Amino acid sequence: MTRRFLLDVMLGTLATYLRMCGYDTLYAQEEGLEADDAIRRRAASTDRTLLTRDRELAARTDDAILLTARDVDEQLTELHAHEIEIELSTHPERCSVCNGRVERIDPAQRPDHAPDSVSQIWQCEACDHHFWKGSHWERVRETIATIPVS
Ligand SMILES: [Zn+2]
Repeated sequence: MTRRFLLDVMLGTLATYLRMCGYDTLYAQEEGLEADDAIRRRAASTDRTLLTRDRELAARTDDAILLTARDVDEQLTELHAHEIEIELSTHPERCSVCNGRVERIDPAQRPDHAPDSVSQIWQCEACDHHFWKGSHWERVRETIATIPVS
């Protein structure tokens, strides 16, 4: 899983999903990138595949995948068609908020807002956000399960 991505604006939900699949994923909106040229330069300088719904931008970028769908499940299906493996990580690896690395923490250091039923908790090394496999994780798993694999 070595492929890395830069996602154009309006693809924030897809960014979350790709991070949950373990992909190193930058999101233009979070990076403060708006102009097409700035986005193209960042993709090239960081060796990332650009994912965009902008046909012109995709055509002008060497390593880009044009997405046509609006819904994340269909976007994931399009990526799968480009031989990009879409599979939820066994455990959280990337922060879905900021793309940082996450580490499992000692249950004794659990945050107050973690449900009692949760025994495994991860924390982002960059932004300190906590993660566990809760209802959001399950929803993402169910969405990914709907992707036709052939
Ligand atoms: Zn983070």
